[in-house]
Amino acid sequence: MQIVVVDSSRVVLQIIASLIEPRGHAVHAFTDSAQALQYLSATPSVRVLITSVEVRPLCGLELCWSARLLAEERRPLHVITMSSARNVRSLAEALDSGADDFIEKPPSAEELNARLRAAERLITLQEELIRLAETDPLTGSYNRRAFFDRARIAAEQDARPGRISAILADIDHFKRINDEHGHDVGDVAIKAVAELIAGEGIGGRLGGEEFGIVLPGCSLAEATDRAERLRERVQALRIRGSKHAIGLTCSFGVSTWIQGDDVHALIKRADIALYAAKSGGRNRVVPYQGDAGLAVAS
Ligand code: GH3
Ligand code: MG
Ligand code: MG
Repeated sequence: MQIVVVDSSRVVLQIIASLIEPRGHAVHAFTDSAQALQYLSATPSVRVLITSVEVRPLCGLELCWSARLLAEERRPLHVITMSSARNVRSLAEALDSGADDFIEKPPSAEELNARLRAAERLITLQEELIRLAETDPLTGSYNRRAFFDRARIAAEQDARPGRISAILADIDHFKRINDEHGHDVGDVAIKAVAELIAGEGIGGRLGGEEFGIVLPGCSLAEATDRAERLRERVQALRIRGSKHAIGLTCSFGVSTWIQGDDVHALIKRADIALYAAKSGGRNRVVPYQGDAGLAVAS
C-alpha cells in the first residue's frame, strides 16, 4: 500500500519506514503536515495516513479532519494517529477528528504491521463497495450517478466554452431487438455498445439503452466527429441473434460547454439534440447549436 507518514522527527520517520517497508509498503515521509496534506490530495493512490498528533503547521487532528474530507470524495483512506500520550482523552479526540485508529509512539513492528493488515482488509472492502456503487452491473460502465460525479469533477478542472463537450447516445428501436430476439440478445447489444463507449472520455450507462460521454478538452466540432465515428462503429457491429446475426444503430446528440454552464445543463442540451436525431430519422449525429438551431450532421 501507499502510506503517508507524518512526524516532526526525521528519526521517527526513518524508524517507521524501516518497520513497514520490508512488508512491501511504499512510505512517503513528511515532517511538514501541510506538505503531507498537499501530497495526499494530489495522490489518490495513497491508502493510509499515519500521523503524529504533535505535528505542524497543521496539528495531527486538523490533518485527520482534512484527510477525512478527502476520503469523502469516494476514496478509501485509513487514518492512524500516533501519540506518546496514550490516554482516553487523546484517543477519543483522535477518533472524533476522523481517525480510524490510534497507536502509541513509538509503535512496535508487530503492532504497527498488524494494524496495517487490519487496515488493508477494511480498504479492500471499501474499494469493492465503491466499485459496486459506481458501476452498472450489466456493462461494468459507470452508472448514472458515477458518470455525473466524474463529469462534474472533470468540469471543475477545466470547464471553459469549447473546452469540454458531451455526447448522448441511444440505441435505435431497441424494443424491437428485445421483442424479436429476446431480452438476452438485447443485453448483448447493450454490452457491445457499452464497450465502444468505454473507449471514449468519461463514459457511463445512464439508463436502459442510453449512454453518456463527457469529453474533456474537446470542442463541439471534435465531439461531433467522435460521435460520427462511434455511429459508424455501432452500425458495423454484428450481434449474435436467436436466428441470425443482427445489426443495430444509435442516434447521437452532442453539446458543448457554454458560459455559466453546469454538467446537468450540458447533458440536457445533448438530450435535446438526441431527440432531434431521433425525430430526424435516427442513426445520425446532431450537435446542439443553441440559437442557431439543431444542425443534422449525418
Ligand atoms: P428509440 O429508437 O426511439 O430509442 O426506440 P427504443 O425502442 O430504443 O426506445 P425505448 O426507450 O422505447 O425502449 C427502450 C427499451 O429498452 C425498453 C426496455 O424494455 C429496454 N431495456 C431497458 N433496460 C434494458 C436492459 O438492461 N436489457 C434489455 N435487454 N432491455 C432493456
Ligand atoms: Mg432507444
Ligand atoms: Mg432510450
